[in-house]
Amino acid sequence: MNKRTFLKLFSATIATPAVSRFSFWAGAEKLTNWSGNVAYSTDSLYAAHSQQQIQEFVKKHAKLKVLGSRHCFNTIADSKDTFLSLKPLDELVSLDPLAHTVTVDAGISYGQLAPLLTDKGFALHNLASLPHISVAGACSTATHGSGEENGNLATAVSALEFVTASGDVVKLSRQQDGDFFNGTVVGLGALGVITKITLNVQPTYNMRQYVYENLSFNTMKDHFDAIEASAYSVSLFTDWQNRRFSEVWLKSRVEKDQAFDAKPEFFGATLATKNLHPIAELSAENCTEQMGVLGPWYERLPHFRMGFTPSAGKELQSEYFVPRPHAVEAILAVERLRDQITPHLLITEIRAIAADDLWLSPCYQQPCVTIHFTWKPDWPAVSQLLPAIEKELAPFQARPHWGKLFTMPPEKLRAHYTRMPEFIALAKKFDPQGKFRNDFLNTNIFSA
Ligand SMILES: Cc1cc2nc3c(=O)[nH]c(=O)nc-3n(C[C@H](O)[C@H](O)[C@H](O)COP(=O)(O)OP(=O)(O)OC[C@H]3O[C@@H](n4cnc5c(N)ncnc54)[C@H](O)[C@@H]3O)c2cc1C
Repeated sequence: MNKRTFLKLFSATIATPAVSRFSFWAGAEKLTNWSGNVAYSTDSLYAAHSQQQIQEFVKKHAKLKVLGSRHCFNTIADSKDTFLSLKPLDELVSLDPLAHTVTVDAGISYGQLAPLLTDKGFALHNLASLPHISVAGACSTATHGSGEENGNLATAVSALEFVTASGDVVKLSRQQDGDFFNGTVVGLGALGVITKITLNVQPTYNMRQYVYENLSFNTMKDHFDAIEASAYSVSLFTDWQNRRFSEVWLKSRVEKDQAFDAKPEFFGATLATKNLHPIAELSAENCTEQMGVLGPWYERLPHFRMGFTPSAGKELQSEYFVPRPHAVEAILAVERLRDQITPHLLITEIRAIAADDLWLSPCYQQPCVTIHFTWKPDWPAVSQLLPAIEKELAPFQARPHWGKLFTMPPEKLRAHYTRMPEFIALAKKFDPQGKFRNDFLNTNIFSA
């Protein structure tokens, strides 16, 4: 960070652990997102150590954004004014073994939470491809893993506590607030500063992960439903060339009756004989264990291991949610652009997600399949390609991931969300003056 970059505590009387806690964000010229493709519009970054500090900070500032673990590829988290980080607030607050819920501070990451939960005999239903992201940021953007019976990560949220624009604390729960609560969970950072999140948990479980190589598009076309139903979590990887998925990742829960029986062949694909990276040329060192080795849920559900740089490192990402009935047609539609896509692509991943009732979830009341693109870090080229992909996917009501790169015009984006007018009203209730809005939100949500 340059000289203008600073971390401040709200009270001079408090000791300053924050500076060391944030050292991993220091060193760069400017404050950027994880990928480095977004240089945030301010370097002003404050760290809160208590609910009281959060409330005072919110009351004092006319505009601010909460920064999570900075893993969004677009400007949804950006601020021209000031950032508030809750990173020092990263405790497991309480576990209710009877209600099967855990309450956490909003600054905690899945990587921090998962081993703590497991030690107490519990687990989450799913994780994203990496454990490094904050629970609050992930749920706010409808981040997901895979598995046709698994809702996105926000579907585990059963209660929320947040500080509204006035500095007041609001507590909401699924049990008490019903459908209104469903409007707040995927909140895009527009409703307030989430301070605590309660998540549904289940008894801990072990998993085995298997990778198969070379599944043909023709087989996928004829057996898509059977392939998706074959394991707890299924991911298909392709570079769009040669009409085949180079890798199929299957994550199987061992305690369930349907534990995957790893035969040498899977729909014509061949069982891998060593650990693989989704991008076959890269070392599998940073990937979670495969080859059927038994391990805890949190070391098999993500593709990438905690403590290592996830994914490819220098990259961009885009992802589109397509209602499940259109999955095969949509995949084949994108394949028509293969020769335009492949030169700029590192890898594509196809995943399945269950339907939910969260107003701004792309899977609102419809199961989806996602078509994800990990791009080489060349935004001029990618920005030329995205409109072509979005045009190809338009007949299938595809909508982009809230935290990744897209070029869809705001009116088209909003049209995919039937509950958008109610969400806007909700945001205005908690934040009448737009304290938590930024250019991304003003353009994509509030310009209606
Ligand atoms: C390598 C990599 C792999 C990824 N894999 C997946 C994947 O498998 N599946 C998937 O769906 N996505 C994936 N993503 C995207 C990522 O999960 C989302 O972008 C997610 O939002 C990241 O959380 P964050 O805390 O880093 O968010 P940030 O970028 O820090 O913030 C995102 C939004 O959340 C808001 N926010 C954060 N904390 C709070 C809070 N306490 N209160 C209110 N608002 C808050 C911010 O203001 C902002 O609007 C990946 C990203 C990367 C870089």
